[in-house]
Amino acid sequence: MQQGIFTEFFSWSFTLRVLSYILKPMKINRKNGLLDDGHYIESPNSDQRPEQQNIELIVIHNISLPPGQFGGPYIEQLFTNQLQPGDHPYFETIHQLKVSSHILIQRDGRITQFVPFHQRAWHAGESRYCGHECCNDFSIGIELEGTDDEPYEDIQYSQLAQLISSLQKAYPSLDRDAITGHCDIAPQRKTDPGPAFDWDHLKQLLHN
Ligand SMILES: [Zn+2]
Repeated sequence: MQQGIFTEFFSWSFTLRVLSYILKPMKINRKNGLLDDGHYIESPNSDQRPEQQNIELIVIHNISLPPGQFGGPYIEQLFTNQLQPGDHPYFETIHQLKVSSHILIQRDGRITQFVPFHQRAWHAGESRYCGHECCNDFSIGIELEGTDDEPYEDIQYSQLAQLISSLQKAYPSLDRDAITGHCDIAPQRKTDPGPAFDWDHLKQLLHN
């Protein structure tokens, strides 16, 4: 009986947490390029965009560290150059990478910002979109915690859609259809966000 009450309480608290995410509007401060009241951890893996460069594209990625495992501190450590090569064999191969996206959306919907939107985050590498090279110059990178083949969580889609809507309002140079996957701008090298990513679902959320 007691266990039932606990289960109920936790499922309610989980539901409330999810609802608070959904109902909380995301506002972007254009002065500092940050989400208002957002969780911000500064990444050194960023610099200035080229002068007069508008933000014109949103790039969706996935990441999980170690691959296929969720919830650890390692993505944040990678994006802040704190990843310890001894913590996992895979980390030996990546700990010296200088990378970061602007945003990470974890499996439970939590959002962390690593780079102000007006700054250039180092997320796409060698890449091309509609004939334009170096997509980092003109894009915003959003990482979903996930893998190419495992369905993403509903809360990740709703958070992503809210964020994209807010970005399109804050930066009118972002065309509403200028949303792409890393796999599409670097097809020889990258597969993320993978077949598990439901583009139609995202479009539905954005156009409702
Ligand atoms: Zn990627």
